[in-house]
Amino acid sequence: MGKLCLLDCTKAELAALVKPSFRAKQIWNWIYHQYATSFGAMQNLPKAMREELTQAYDIMPLKIARKECSSDGTIKYLFELRDGKTIETVWLKMKDEAIDDEGNVEHEARFTVCVSTQVGCKVGCSFCLTAKGGFTRDLSAGEIVAQVLAVKMDNNLAAHRRLNIVYMGMGEPLDNLENLAKAITIFKDEDGLSISGKRQTVSTSGLSTKIDKLGEMDLGVHIAISLHAVDDELRSELIPMNKAYNIASIIDAVKRFPIDARKRVMFEYLVIKNKNDDLVSAKKLVKLLHGIKAKVNLIFFNPYEGSDYGRPTRADMTKFQDYLEAHGVLCTIRDSKGLDISAACGQLKEKELNEVAQ
Ligand code: SAH
Ligand code: SF4
Repeated sequence: MGKLCLLDCTKAELAALVKPSFRAKQIWNWIYHQYATSFGAMQNLPKAMREELTQAYDIMPLKIARKECSSDGTIKYLFELRDGKTIETVWLKMKDEAIDDEGNVEHEARFTVCVSTQVGCKVGCSFCLTAKGGFTRDLSAGEIVAQVLAVKMDNNLAAHRRLNIVYMGMGEPLDNLENLAKAITIFKDEDGLSISGKRQTVSTSGLSTKIDKLGEMDLGVHIAISLHAVDDELRSELIPMNKAYNIASIIDAVKRFPIDARKRVMFEYLVIKNKNDDLVSAKKLVKLLHGIKAKVNLIFFNPYEGSDYGRPTRADMTKFQDYLEAHGVLCTIRDSKGLDISAACGQLKEKELNEVAQ
């Protein structure tokens, strides 16, 4: 410990630290484009500067503690932070040919990194394994940025290759809004990873006041709402925080959120057997989303040892999807990628803990 983490700095902050300020751009280039892991490698910097930086800063605040590769190309990482705590990050390879949101056919393989924003989570959803371990701490901006950088490096991905970020790993991103906003800004910087706001999606369990705050920051990011239920009673059972931020307050906040005219707000709906997989729920969902440019993503509940809920059948999922589509609501089923590895949020960490305990 002791040293600061360079990835915590925006380029403007770094430019205020190193003189002359063009050095900041050179350092960023080394880190984000050349994947340098030490200041010693930064040969176009004066030797004295390299030494000073080495004294005061570390670059990478995490290391790979465990890695699981799935047959479909998904890789799940367990990263160890400097204080020994661990977080999960998932690397997903999408289809080689895909149609983007503007209707253009993309032929390049597309990559998505699913990042964590906290160690643990305070929200305490009853279906989520991350919640079981409680909350430990927020991640710093640098620890959020480092997950994407480390995954790009580990996969030897050329620096210019575009990828998407989804804030759907461990933690509630809007409960760590300040560091999240800083990380988004660092990701967007064109001298760095250059991942535009429209390629970043913040998933939230619905802290409506923070949805407003994120909107006011005007970072150009998308939001995904983890809705999961259409009435407050069930939603409060699944997400206790719903008592404070109910469905109506979330829908109102979504309506105020600045959305690119060509885009849609994603609503994630975790489908749980015999809980919310019926067509009465589907009907209520259609009504709830009326007037919103929405897209629903149905997620299979992924059971884990000791979980209270069951996985729905594919037939029920398809019926639910068909109902929404027939009533004009765009709907996709998220086929759990990496099912042969510990795919759902929190499951790899759990595995590591069990093995250590044995
Ligand atoms: N806290 C934020 C983002 C992280 S959770 C949020 O809740 O939106 C990311 C996603 O993982 C959520 O949509 C959540 O519903 C999903 N998830 C959690 N536990 C799951 C499980 N057991 N099976 C399937 N998806 C799960
Ligand atoms: Fe936290 Fe999201 Fe898990 Fe709920 S689903 S406990 S908000 S990480």
